[in-house]
Amino acid sequence: MSGANLAERLRAWMGADASVVADDGETLSAHGGDKWFANHAPEVVVFAQTTDQVSALLRFASEHKIPVTARGAGYGYVGGCVPMRGGIALSLARMNRIKDLSFEDAIAVVEPGVITGDLQAAAKELKLFYPPDPASLKDCSMGGNVATNAGGPRCLKYGVTRNYVAGLEVVLASGEVLRTGARVHKNKTGFDLIGLFVGSEGMLGIVTEITVKLLPLPPSRMTLSASFNDMSAAAATVQRIFAEGFLPSSLEIADHFTLEAARHDAGASGVPPGNAHMLVDFDGHIETVGVEMEKVRALVASQHPSALEVATTEEGCEQLWALRRQFSNSLRATGLTKLNQDIVVPRSRLVDLVEFAASLQKKHGFPVAAFGHAGDGNIHVNIMAERYNRDAAVREKVERALDELFAQVLAFGGVITGEHGIGLAKKRWWPQATSDVSRDLHRRLKQALDPDGILNPGKFLD
Ligand SMILES: Cc1cc2nc3c(=O)[nH]c(=O)nc-3n(C[C@H](O)[C@H](O)[C@H](O)COP(=O)(O)OP(=O)(O)OC[C@H]3O[C@@H](n4cnc5c(N)ncnc54)[C@H](O)[C@@H]3O)c2cc1C
Repeated sequence: MSGANLAERLRAWMGADASVVADDGETLSAHGGDKWFANHAPEVVVFAQTTDQVSALLRFASEHKIPVTARGAGYGYVGGCVPMRGGIALSLARMNRIKDLSFEDAIAVVEPGVITGDLQAAAKELKLFYPPDPASLKDCSMGGNVATNAGGPRCLKYGVTRNYVAGLEVVLASGEVLRTGARVHKNKTGFDLIGLFVGSEGMLGIVTEITVKLLPLPPSRMTLSASFNDMSAAAATVQRIFAEGFLPSSLEIADHFTLEAARHDAGASGVPPGNAHMLVDFDGHIETVGVEMEKVRALVASQHPSALEVATTEEGCEQLWALRRQFSNSLRATGLTKLNQDIVVPRSRLVDLVEFAASLQKKHGFPVAAFGHAGDGNIHVNIMAERYNRDAAVREKVERALDELFAQVLAFGGVITGEHGIGLAKKRWWPQATSDVSRDLHRRLKQALDPDGILNPGKFLD
């Protein structure tokens, strides 16, 4: 079926017009990629507005064996929503209603296109708290967060997206509508079907409604910023904080290259002196946060930092966090292509990881910047390549460096992705990262739920 033909047939089938089923060149090319490098235009884009439309679409696609690739906001980092086999890009962006937000039940029910930051803001109005905080929260969607099991700095204390999903409505490849879970905070009815769909990267079903648990909003927060002469001192301090029984809401570190990039980009005055930087957040009631922060401040001071500062107001905390939020932009401002790998290592291996990253830098000749969620071992290791998009030899060299990085991360007992997913970006390393039995089970689950392989084909299960 040609693109124009497909669009016509779909419009007739769905009783929809060109505002729902689009096949103009501009719309197609706007739905071919995300924030990674791959791009492949679909033949048609469908902007679903209801679950019934998604169901009708999937019945049609199943019958005609047409690929369907779900798309939230297109802010993924691994090419997950790229329609590699063409067909239909199914945008959930217009399903963006917060359907229910209840203080009494501490529950929100949302459509998948709701922007994560919008849900957080709406919850905050009611003194409720939705903790998962991907750095992209102002742009990414709840459906995308569910499909990638998104995380963020606060996940150290509060857990990732999966920990907050209490219920899902999912349209299966056949068009059947599954409702699983409930509007409650605890539930053990049957298998964990929610867990099956969270993180399934659009390959097992299309999420059309999400019920999330909410927490009481912590009334206050404090931030500590410290710098050290080297990463070993920062990592040792991280371990001391946990050894003394503290659980910060976030604990982030950044290495020398990242700090230097920020100094060049934003000016040295905004970046504390030192070669390794640490941010520690506590939240809760002001009295308890104050006591905890004072003890941690004393502990960090005893580790001989080159700079140490504590903010006790929301504004002050945000000023300290402005540096952390600037890192990605500062690295991009170097003019190099930033290849972000969200690997995770056991926390005891943080220093080994940073040392290994430095050895990669020496061996392959491109800078490596490491920063991120040190508390849970999820460090973003960024290979900074020159002429990446213009020179095949550079891309080949980067692939070899990544082969070495991922092999070492796995040897440390770590994993190749903590929050972004496999998508296309990490497809090459999927076999190494999983056992034969695990891959076979993935294939059997896929076969059971999507026997014709129409959902997001071309990704890591192919
Ligand atoms: C600057 C920046 C910072 C980031 N920081 C973080 C971070 O701190 N933590 C983190 O976890 N991630 C981060 N990311 C990655 C990204 O934002 C997350 O993966 C996010 O969850 C993607 O959401 P999205 O709506 O953009 O999804 P998309 O990119 O549109 O899609 C992502 C995947 O989800 C599938 N999908 C989307 N909607 C649905 C649905 N309704 N049903 C079924 N499948 C669906 C798609 O097919 C695709 O496989 C960052 C990205 C950027 C660009």
